[in-house]
Amino acid sequence: METSKRLHTPASRQTFAVAPRVWGLKTLFANLYFVANPNGSWVLVDTGVKGYAHQIRSAADELFGENSVPQAIVLTHGHFDHIGTVRELAEHWQVPVYAHPMEFPYLTGQSSYPPPDPSVGGGAMAYLSFIYPKKPIDIHQLLVLLPEEGIVPALEGWHWVFTPGHSPGHVSFFREEDRVLLAGDAFTTRDAESAIAVMTEKREVHGPPNYYTPDWGNAHRSVETLLNLNPKIAATGHGMPMKGEELTRQLENLVKNFWLKAVPKHGRYVHEPAITDEQGVVSLPPEVSNTVPKVLAVAGAVAVAGLFWMAIKKRNNSKQKNGQGHYGSYPKNRPYSHNRVMTGLPPTIDPDFDDPDAHTNNYP
Ligand SMILES: [Zn+2]
Ligand SMILES: [Zn+2]
Repeated sequence: METSKRLHTPASRQTFAVAPRVWGLKTLFANLYFVANPNGSWVLVDTGVKGYAHQIRSAADELFGENSVPQAIVLTHGHFDHIGTVRELAEHWQVPVYAHPMEFPYLTGQSSYPPPDPSVGGGAMAYLSFIYPKKPIDIHQLLVLLPEEGIVPALEGWHWVFTPGHSPGHVSFFREEDRVLLAGDAFTTRDAESAIAVMTEKREVHGPPNYYTPDWGNAHRSVETLLNLNPKIAATGHGMPMKGEELTRQLENLVKNFWLKAVPKHGRYVHEPAITDEQGVVSLPPEVSNTVPKVLAVAGAVAVAGLFWMAIKKRNNSKQKNGQGHYGSYPKNRPYSHNRVMTGLPPTIDPDFDDPDAHTNNYP
């Protein structure tokens, strides 16, 4: 049957397999996920960074057939690296966008998120946080509330779980049948604070990205909630999927040592969270001085930009060698890298692995 054949479509060159009927796509440094029902209908979870709409549609074509349209877009949260193409895709496909009510103010132009905290120090992404957009987008015409009681629209067997902390209305998605978790940024599977880890995709459980987390108490409780679901496979907003005992052990460790391992030593939200409600930000703890000297911050930003530039260059070169340079230049159509393995590094997801039904053999 045509539909079932499509459900066994190998993960394309563009996507990585997560579990049966779940595929991921990396946009520059943030992941989004394609999740299908047994009957072939599907939903997009998150939408990546700006400039990737074309690639997302082409990956969907490869997975589900030419001009395939999802039933809906659902958002884990509204940070810019998860909603970069949401308007373009939702308007193109004419589908609703679902989010948690506590996330609405930041998706309807009503409130800005609590400001990111560059004072958390040390992290590559913290150095760059000043360039991130601070103004909320307004997609109120497209936006619909997630149904109550954890029902995920148009997806059978999935539930959403409220996991605030990294953002006020952050949710994760869980498929009980095989315990697959899409955790958004509630926790991540690579060190978002390290530019090297961002490049190499070393899989390791980490807390939510420091620079954008305004409520560490809730973030801690949320990771505990997710651990209690006993996930067998976890795919997150940043990093490659993890599974099995390694996942459980590292997630347990994160919950147990959250304040040591995940929470920054100092920073605006470490002792006091941002207070938010359904209208947006209510109050913020006072700003703390940025402990990263300006000159270091600039040097850090330049170094990170340089690493990304080198990765893009390397990728373009190897593409030209392979006669695959037809995607045009970065960043419009093609990211520098998604599910590629760099040689000489610890084992990670096999880029040639393409059978989503055999996913359990894929991760060391
Ligand atoms: Zn985020
Ligand atoms: Zn993110």
